[in-house]
This record gives sequence, C-alpha cells and structure tokens, in this order.
Amino acid sequence: MNTITIIKLADATTALVPNQNGYLNQLPIAPEQGPGPVKAMGAYATPKPSPAKNMIAMSEDCAALLGLSADDLQSDLWQQLLSGNASLKEQPSFAMNYAGHQFGNWAGQLGDGRAIVIADVLAGSNKYMLQLKGAGPTAFSRRGDGYAVLRSSIREFLCSEAMHALGVPTTRALSLVTRGEAVWRDMFYDGRPALEPSAVVCRVAPSFIRFGHFELLASRGDKAQLQAFILFCVSEYFPEIAAQYVEDLNEGICSIGLVAAFFESICSSTAALVAHWQSIGFTHGVLNTDNMSIHGVTIDYGPYGWLEPYEPSWTPNTTDAHGRRYAFGQQPKICMWNLWQLANALAFALDDSSKLSAELGRFQSKYWAAYSKCMAPKLGVSSVSQGFLEELEAFMEAAKVDMTVFFRGLAQVHTHEEFHSHVLASSYKEPELSADVSQAFWGEYDALLNQSGLDNRADTMNAHNPLYVLRNYLAYQAIEKAEQGDYAVIHQLQKVLSNPFEDQGYPELSAKRPDWAAETPGCSALSCSS
Ligand code: AMP
Ligand code: MG
Repeated sequence: MNTITIIKLADATTALVPNQNGYLNQLPIAPEQGPGPVKAMGAYATPKPSPAKNMIAMSEDCAALLGLSADDLQSDLWQQLLSGNASLKEQPSFAMNYAGHQFGNWAGQLGDGRAIVIADVLAGSNKYMLQLKGAGPTAFSRRGDGYAVLRSSIREFLCSEAMHALGVPTTRALSLVTRGEAVWRDMFYDGRPALEPSAVVCRVAPSFIRFGHFELLASRGDKAQLQAFILFCVSEYFPEIAAQYVEDLNEGICSIGLVAAFFESICSSTAALVAHWQSIGFTHGVLNTDNMSIHGVTIDYGPYGWLEPYEPSWTPNTTDAHGRRYAFGQQPKICMWNLWQLANALAFALDDSSKLSAELGRFQSKYWAAYSKCMAPKLGVSSVSQGFLEELEAFMEAAKVDMTVFFRGLAQVHTHEEFHSHVLASSYKEPELSADVSQAFWGEYDALLNQSGLDNRADTMNAHNPLYVLRNYLAYQAIEKAEQGDYAVIHQLQKVLSNPFEDQGYPELSAKRPDWAAETPGCSALSCSS
C-alpha cells in the first residue's frame, strides 16, 4: 500500500493538520487483526485497494469544510486515498470498537465492520474524521466481507448531502467511488444471492463515536477505561463543558457534574435531531444504539425512507415490518430509549446516577420544544402548541397527504376552499376526504394564523418547507441508471437537492410518488442488505 501526505494538498490557509490529541493517540488501539473480540477501543485496519477505482460523485460543499477544492479531490493523490488505494503517512488508519442494542436486544461487540477512519484532522478550529465505508474487512467484520454495494453507497452519499442542505444535522459525504469489483449479496434475504457492484463512500464528521462505545465499556465492567473515555470525549468534542470542568479534566476526575453535563448535551442534540426528522418525514429505519452519534447527527444511512402518505406506523425497513419498532412515529420514543441505554452505560462510571435519570425525564419536553421550533416556521406562525401539532398529525394521517407536497403548497392557501383542494391534490387517498373534515382542521389553523401568523408568512414557509426531498423512488431511479454505468441522475439529484427550498423547475422531482413505485422493491421497501 502506498502512503501519502495530504498536508501539502490543502492550500496554505486551510492546511489539514493531523489531530495529535485525537482518538488514535489518547485511546488504546489494537494491532491489525482478523475478526474476533477486541479489548481496545479500536484496531488498526488497512483499506483494501479498489481494482478499478472511479470517482462518480463528490461533494464540493463537503470538501470546502476541509479547505479542499474540486481540483484537490480530483488529484491522483486524493483519488488514491478516497478509493482505499493509499493511506496517509502521518496517521495509521483504524476501525472503531463499540457495542450496541439492536432492535431492543443486547448485541455485544459490533464495531466498524466495514468502516475505516483514514484521517483525523484539524481544519482551522474544526475537527473532522474522514472515514471510508466499504473499503474492506476489519477486526470487527464478524461474518461480513467489509464491503458496501453501489446501491446503498449511492443512497448514503445522496442522502447525507441532501439532509445537510435541509438543515438536518448529519454526517457528511465527501466522495462516492466505484471499486470495480462485485460482491455477493442476498438483497431480499430470499436465498437468491447475486453479484452486485461495490463502492466506497468517504464520510466526514467530527467523530464517529456512538452510544455503543460507552455501552461496550460498561458491559465489560471497565470502569477506569469508561471514565477515561468520557473525559476524552468531553475534552475533545465538548469545549463548553470542558471549559466548565477544567480542574476535573486536569486531574482525570470523572465527576457527576461533568458526566451529567455531557449527557444533557447529548439529550438536547438528540431531541433536536429527531425533531428535525419528524418535521420533514424522514425515517431512519435502524435506530439501534450503535447508530446513534454523540454529536446528535444522523449517522449510518441504511434502509431509511421518506414518508409518502403521512403514516406514523410506516417503516421503509422490511426487516422491521412486523415489529415496526423503528417506524416513523416511533422515532422520538426510540431515541429516548436509546438515551436510556446511554444513561445506563454512563451511570456505570458514577456512584450516583440520579442526575442522569432526571435529565432523561426532561427528554420529552425537550423534544416537544425542539419539534415546535421546527414546525412553527413551516406553518408560518411564531409559535405553535403541542396540542395543535398533535391535531395536525392526526389530520395529515386521516387525509393521507404527502407531507412534502402538503407543506410546500400551504403558503399559497388562504381560504377553506383553497385548503380543501390543496389537501386533495396532496393526498394519496381514495375515496376523497370530506369537506367537513378539512373545514374542522382549517378552522383551527386559520385561528392560529390570526393569532400568531407571521407577516411575511409565505417567504418564511417556503424557506422551511422543501420542494425537493430524496424521495424513495428517486433514489431507486438513480441506482438503476448507475448500475448501467450512467451517473447523470445522481448528479442531477445532487444538484437539485443541494438547494431544496428553491424552485428550480423539474416538476417530476417534486411530485407525489407515482403508483408504480408504491410496491416496487427497493423503492419504499428496503432490506438491511447493503
Ligand atoms: P449497519 O446496519 O450498517 O449499522 O451495521 C451494523 C453492524 O454490522 C456494524 O457493526 C457494521 O460494521 C456491520 N456490518 C454491516 N455490513 C457489513 C459488511 N458487509 N461487512 C462487515 N460488517 C458489516
Ligand atoms: Mg451501523
């Protein structure tokens, strides 16, 4: 494997500098090894070269975070790095160790089975890890091959950047590279495996630390390492808490106050995150505790989906079709359940966990406050009560409206008649909703508008109600074309979704889901196979 230096690639004002105090230097990392239990917080792992790399998409916006230009990314050195064909001279690459609860059950050690951190850098005052997803096996691959198929990589690449443009906290995606090698997948878990093209996405985030990191250490009874890990996270990633607890950090004391402040911050960012999801109709699909970031960002795009008819019980994940644990409407409750698991793990570092329980008790009200904050501008009002939002949800469910279409058109509605026709046009429902039902809800909304409607209501609403989201069938169409070697749809979606609130034309990209897509596997029904 070649080793390369990236520092010289960034321009002088924004040079990337290896983070000398990061995960690699402060935490135990095991040698590169085959799958099995790992005691350390990670294991060195070398990406496998891509036999015929081809960078099919990149995000200039994400590159700019790192002070890089499109030309930089297209240079041979970056192409080598982003395809797994070279690694950095300054930093060894590694996979992280963590555990987790999957579908409510304790799963033990999981770790990055197909994700390798290739750089942990400082860009100005910001910290970023660059992680290749699908670049080959690690110590945590268990029975997996360490690779990712093109279809799931396209979904992760497009959605990460689309979510960012929507204002939703998320890991970013820098590049999408096909590897030129096929891998076996049983896409529908029906005993019919087939060869599929593989790809690598380079993700970018402050870190990829998950709730499951803490669960791993608590489950092993390693109180000292758990305390050290909490102190590491606070000093590295939570500067405001670090500033408040300088003495504790200097003396290595994992105090109740520090841990409570850390947990409180994660509760707040998680409440804000799930509020964003609920406000735009995004369903993550696999909210296991190993898929929950300490930074409150959306992480691990798998069988996610966007609501079509507004249905709280809807899930895009066929593996969850029976239990519906991770259905759209369950997400706030599940995030709280996941925070409870995090609290249990953190409590192991303390003698008294009452502050953590008290904070958990505040989650619901934090969620509703965050959700109201997201919803008020969508409705064109200065504030909105929980009671009204519950009625709105019940109405959208009864009317089976497409959430995106419904909200986007709301700015143009001024009378019950207009409202009623707008609801019918947004709805997937047959037979049609009666005028009485729409009148009842319109009456409430109209009263709210009179009471707290914004002066520039239409502008605010259009700036908060996207015209374009990555509809399930749009991702499917991009994948179909890409599998035939045509990447134009990916590029078109990437461009349109980078500006989702602005009307750019393309009515076919903002319309309700067509009928053919309702039942087509791979559109709105996805397995975890990736
Ligand atoms: P995910 O559903 O992508 O969050 O993955 C759950 C766990 O399975 C994580 O520990 C992954 O690293 C691991 N995993 C998923 N797919 C693969 C694969 N193809 N090879 C190795 N590990 C995998
Ligand atoms: Mg995961």
